[in-house]
Amino acid sequence: KPFDIRALMANITKSFEFMRSQNNNIINIKIAPQIPQYVSGDVVKLSQILMNLIGNACKFTENGKINISISTSESKDGNIRLHFTIEDTGIGIPEDKQRQIFDEFTQVNANTPYEGTGLGLAIVKKLLDLHESKLYITSALGKGTSLSFSVTYDKASQEKLVNKTTPPLTILKDKLVLI
Ligand code: ATP
Ligand code: MG
Repeated sequence: KPFDIRALMANITKSFEFMRSQNNNIINIKIAPQIPQYVSGDVVKLSQILMNLIGNACKFTENGKINISISTSESKDGNIRLHFTIEDTGIGIPEDKQRQIFDEFTQVNANTPYEGTGLGLAIVKKLLDLHESKLYITSALGKGTSLSFSVTYDKASQEKLVNKTTPPLTILKDKLVLI
């Protein structure tokens, strides 16, 4: 099903607004202009992946920055490949623990009080398996973490949507309303 990637990113980041301000973080989003308004694919899986990764970035970062970027390349079959990177300036993950974080119920900062069940990244990994994709990590203790993945979406079906107008998003009395 076709979805608007920019609207998705705006809504996901909005849902982390409380966490972001609690931890005094700045969130930057960069979306390559050549990415079309609509891509076609499983938006539910993509939002689950992003919610987990952005949620982690917000949780493990204080007084810092979370940079989200989406770039693109054409894949061989003419479909569109999107490359996502979620980078933070948070606590980081020691190199010898970086493999373990994808295991279920595993939290590698045992001495510090961070809430969670240790399931998020295990779920992300399973969802990316379904897309035949992988999660790449670069992290330095005390400096920050960067996680990236790529997904291929269908380009063909979006052409039909070029002229379709989506209702604008407005916020009315703190509720998200479509008008
Ligand atoms: P849950 O996601 O189930 O609420 P969680 O966030 O602790 O709990 P995961 O998302 O699976 O679990 O992450 C596993 C562990 O990897 C975390 O507990 C944390 O130790 C480490 N981790 C994940 N993302 C980051 C990050 N951006 N910065 C620092 N550490 C991270
Ligand atoms: Mg998590």
